[in-house]
Amino acid sequence: MGEIAIKPRTIGALEKLEAYESNVRSYSRSFPALFSRARGSFMLSNDGRKFIDFLSGAGALNYGHNNHGIKAAIDGYLASDAVVHGLDMATPAKLQFMETFSSVILRERNLQYRFQFTGPTGASAVEAALKLSRKVTGRQNVISFTRGFHGMSLGALSASGNRFYRAASNASLPGVTFMPYDGYFGPSVDTASFLRSLLLDESSGIDSPAAILVETVQGEGGLNAASKEWLQSIQGIARDVGALFIVDDIQMGCGRTGEFFSFEFADLSPDIVVLSKSLSGYGLPLSMLLIKEGFDVWRPGEHTGTFRGNNLALVSATAAIDIYWRTTTFSDGVQRMGKLMRRRLEAIASRHGNSFAVLGRGMALGLDCPTPQIAATTARKAFEKGLIVERCGPDDQVVKFLPALTIDLETLHEGLQIFEESLAEALKLEKSH
Ligand SMILES: *Cc1c(COP(=O)(O)O)cnc(C)c1O
Repeated sequence: MGEIAIKPRTIGALEKLEAYESNVRSYSRSFPALFSRARGSFMLSNDGRKFIDFLSGAGALNYGHNNHGIKAAIDGYLASDAVVHGLDMATPAKLQFMETFSSVILRERNLQYRFQFTGPTGASAVEAALKLSRKVTGRQNVISFTRGFHGMSLGALSASGNRFYRAASNASLPGVTFMPYDGYFGPSVDTASFLRSLLLDESSGIDSPAAILVETVQGEGGLNAASKEWLQSIQGIARDVGALFIVDDIQMGCGRTGEFFSFEFADLSPDIVVLSKSLSGYGLPLSMLLIKEGFDVWRPGEHTGTFRGNNLALVSATAAIDIYWRTTTFSDGVQRMGKLMRRRLEAIASRHGNSFAVLGRGMALGLDCPTPQIAATTARKAFEKGLIVERCGPDDQVVKFLPALTIDLETLHEGLQIFEESLAEALKLEKSH
C-alpha cells in the first residue's frame, strides 16, 4: 500500500461512534476497529493493524477495495465535470455502460436483455423485479425458497426466509410461498419435482405464481449451492406454469462463482436477472434488472427513483467490464483459485472427521461447522489475528469465505492459514469446556 503515516488510534473513537450510531449497527460489532484505509484485499485500521478481507463488502467488492484501474476511470470522469447525477436522464456514461455490457457480457453469452436501472440497493431492484412480474402476469403469488435472502424492504423481505429479519418488520409479509431449496431434505429428495407437483395440482392450495425467485448459491442462507439439474428444472417449471423465472444474482453475480453470471454453468436463460453489489466494481451503489424484451411492460415513469443508474457508478461499472471481462483470463483465474480454496478447506474439514462440510461454488465458499459456537469463536479469533471473515446460515454456523476475486495467491493462503489456526484454537477451547 505504499508508505502510509498511521495515526495513533483516536482515543475512544469506537466508543464515540457507538454513542452516535443506532443500535442497529452490526458489522462494527463483529469487527471492532476503526478502519481508515483499504486497498485490494487489505483493510487498515487507525491503530496500524492490517487485515486480510475475506468479507469483501458482503460481495460488493469482487475487484477489491479501491481498485486502481477502476479508480482511474472515476478520477477522470470527476475531473471532466461530466454529469454525476441526472436522475435517469440520458448521458454518454449510461449509453457507454449499456453498450459495453451488451457487447462484452450479453452478446458473448447469447443473451439479450433490456436494462432497468432501479434505486441503488439490491432490495430496490428485487422490489422492481417482483412488481414487474406481477404486472406481467396479473398474479400475486411468488415462489421463493427456504433460506433465501433478497433484502430488507417489505417486498424483498417477504421473499426472505430469515425469521429474525422477518420478525423485525412487525408487518405482514404477504404474497410469497416458500418451497424447499435444492438439498433441503438431504440429497435423496428432489425438491424440484415436489414443487412441480404442487404447482401443477389445481387443488394444492398454492396460487399460481407470478414468478419463481431463486439464488443459484444462497449467500446469506449458508452457501447452499443448487445443482445444475435442479436449476434447470426450476426454470422449466416456471415456463410450464407461466411464471417469470428470476435469478437474484446480486451476491453471486459479477464473477463470484467463476463466470460473470452465476447461472451460466447451468445454461439458464432467466426472464429477469437482478444485479447489484459488485456491479459498479468499486463499492458504489448501483443496481439493475436485466429484462427479457417481451416482459418490459412498464409504462413510462411507472416505477421511479432518485438514484437510478448514478453516472459515477456506471462509469466504474464500465471500467470493471473493460478491465476484467474482455478476455477469459480473469474468470479462468477465479475458477482456479476457487478450486484451490476448496481443496484447502476440504483438507481442513477432513482433519476433523465428518463434522465439517465445505459448501458453495467458485470463490463463494463456506465451512459448515458442527456448532454455531465454533464458527463464532473461530471468526473472533481470526479477527484478532488479522482476518475479516463473517458467518452465515440459519444459525450463523457457516464460516463464509468471500475473498476479492483479484486476491493474489500469497494473501489467499495467508488468510486461509490464519483461519486454520483460529479454528484449531476454537476447537481446543471447545474441548476444554
Ligand atoms: C445483499 C443481497 C440483497 C440485498 O441487497 P441490499 O443492497 O442489501 O438491499 C438481495 N439479494 C441477495 C442475494 C443479496 O446478497
